Amino acid sequence: MKKTLNESRDNGTLDRRRFLGTALGACAIGAPLGLVSMQLAASMSESLTKEQRDSMTPSQVIDELKKGNERFRTGKMARRDYVGEQRSSAAGQYPAAVILGCLDSRVPAEIVFDAGIGDTFVGRVAGNVVNDDMLGSMEFACAVSGAKVVLVLGHTACGAVKGAIDDVVLGNLTGLLARIKPAVSETKFDGERSSKNASYVNAVARTNVGLALAEIRRRSPILEDLEKKGSIKMAGAMYDLASGAVDFVG
Ligand SMILES: [Zn+2]
Repeated sequence: MKKTLNESRDNGTLDRRRFLGTALGACAIGAPLGLVSMQLAASMSESLTKEQRDSMTPSQVIDELKKGNERFRTGKMARRDYVGEQRSSAAGQYPAAVILGCLDSRVPAEIVFDAGIGDTFVGRVAGNVVNDDMLGSMEFACAVSGAKVVLVLGHTACGAVKGAIDDVVLGNLTGLLARIKPAVSETKFDGERSSKNASYVNAVARTNVGLALAEIRRRSPILEDLEKKGSIKMAGAMYDLASGAVDFVG
């Protein structure tokens, strides 16, 4: 069994354990690298602890999200013990980030960032639009629970973005799409401005992420203050359905 573990470490598969790597790295300033690796391995069946999460800077959390997506994209995801994570997080949660993502079934944030139970808060709504309830959720995540990063995650070929471009009218969806329309009008694009043009749809989705970040800052003085103090970072990103890659856009 031990041999198997060592072999795993040798071929790099133990490198994948996401947030904890940085958390423990930050704790172990000046400690030999081997110590970090050992603790990294021990974390395989546990969720983030408060100490681990709090030891990370917002930038380190973003780096861990990037590393997690790299593991996902390259098929080297963590071999996770979900039951262990469930048990270790039952008494409390200390997620490192809150992610506002799209309803799209192909963009499950926890999976594309290779995050475990208890690692991230995730709010999903078509077109990853901001509304009062999402703002309240993000304020809870950061100001109450202590998450370090607010990430708005858009994606390519977003159906909600296409619907906004096409002026779709359908029940309550009409009002939701209205939240995306400012991105349609603000997107500068030289080619055909049509929902059939993938480049245009993706350009609008990218604008939509930027506008969502601006709206979060404008409508949530609580989050804006935390960001100004350096307690949290806000970032946007685009997930590519075709490649599985997340491109952070600032
Ligand atoms: Zn979408």
